[in-house]
Amino acid sequence: MPAGPFFTSGNVPIVSQLELNKIQAGKIHRFWLQLITDGMGTPVSVPVFVAKGTEKGPVLGLTAAVHGNEINGIPVIQRLFREIDPARLHGTLVGVPVMNVPAVLQRQRRFFEESDLNAIMPGREDGNAAQVYAYRLVDRLVRHFDYLIDLHTAGFGRENSYHVKADLEDPVTRRMAMLQNAPIIVHSPPSDGSLRGVADSLGIHSIAL
Ligand SMILES: [Zn+2]
Repeated sequence: MPAGPFFTSGNVPIVSQLELNKIQAGKIHRFWLQLITDGMGTPVSVPVFVAKGTEKGPVLGLTAAVHGNEINGIPVIQRLFREIDPARLHGTLVGVPVMNVPAVLQRQRRFFEESDLNAIMPGREDGNAAQVYAYRLVDRLVRHFDYLIDLHTAGFGRENSYHVKADLEDPVTRRMAMLQNAPIIVHSPPSDGSLRGVADSLGIHSIAL
C-alpha cells in the first residue's frame, strides 16, 4: 500500500501513514487513516484532523472515543479545529475525534469481539482484529505525538465530575494536568494496556480527561 494519499472519500484523502513532515504548514488538513478492513473487506479508517502551525514546535495529539460509548470528546475536537488558526500556531495539533471507529458505529463501548481497546494497547502486529487495530493506531498515529490528551466521558449510568488523570510525579504531565482547569486531578500512574500507558512507554507525555 503506498504511504501517501491513494484514494479520496469526498475531498478527504485516505492514507495509510501520517506523514506530518510532508504536509503544508499554516493549514488545517483532514485525512482518513486506514487501519484494517472489516469482515466484508471494507476499509476501516479513523478520521484525523491536523493543524500544522507555521512555527516549529511539538506535536500534541488530542484523541476521543477510544471507548465507543464515550462521545462527548468528539464535538470538542471538531469545535477546536473550527476555531484554531494554524497561521498563529507553534507546532502541530493532531485531533482524532473517533479512535474506536467500529465501536462508535455499533453504538457500543467495546471493539469487535468485546475487546476493550483501552486495555489491549499496544496490540499485536499479528494478533486478532482488535490487537492489529490497536497496534496500527499506535504505529501509524500515536507514535508521532510528543504529548497526548485522551478525552473520555463518564460511563453509561454514571455521573462523573470533570477530572484529569495524570502521573503527578512526572513534572511535565503534572503541568499538563494543572493547565486543564479541572476541579479534580487524580494521581494515576498510567496503567499497562491503556492508550495513556502505551504513550507513556513511548516517551509521550499523556493525560486523560
Ligand atoms: Zn473511557
